[in-house]
Amino acid sequence: MGVTIIWDHQVPTGLRLPVGRRIETVLRLPVTLVDADVLINGFHPERNQYDAAAILERVLFMKGRMGCEGPVLLVVTHDLYAGGCDFVFGLARPQTGCAVISIARLDNAFYRREDDFDDLADRAGKEGAHEIGHLLGLEHCTDPECVMFKPATLAELDRKKVMLCPSCRAALAAVFR
Ligand SMILES: [Zn+2]
Ligand SMILES: [Zn+2]
Repeated sequence: MGVTIIWDHQVPTGLRLPVGRRIETVLRLPVTLVDADVLINGFHPERNQYDAAAILERVLFMKGRMGCEGPVLLVVTHDLYAGGCDFVFGLARPQTGCAVISIARLDNAFYRREDDFDDLADRAGKEGAHEIGHLLGLEHCTDPECVMFKPATLAELDRKKVMLCPSCRAALAAVFR
């Protein structure tokens, strides 16, 4: 089974291959990269953020139109929120096989730090692999270095390695057995 990653046109094009490769490495699954001009809905004017659940409806629509069998991840630049959370790095809905991540809070510029392309690519790769991991049936992990650990802050995201811990790796292998 392959994974499809849809890149909204606002995401810097140079990120696609490096992030796609990181996700492929973590999950050991083939990844197809698709460019799209996505109609992003769910804008909340008071929050100046987008409702990740509303965007997932759009992802489901695109998944059907494209005839994708496997998991589909959309990557956007829009700042996301979900439920009671002030913000989310991403959101997955395993029942539909759809996920979204935003690079808005993965960029050093958001924290007024010096730009670093590898930081951004690593974070997007970890978050993308995390959400796709949920679509493949993985749960949150207590190992702070595992991709399936749920980070509450950028520091926690940065502490994760671009890999699954042995127990999540075994759980993922069991899905394909
Ligand atoms: Zn998660
Ligand atoms: Zn783990």
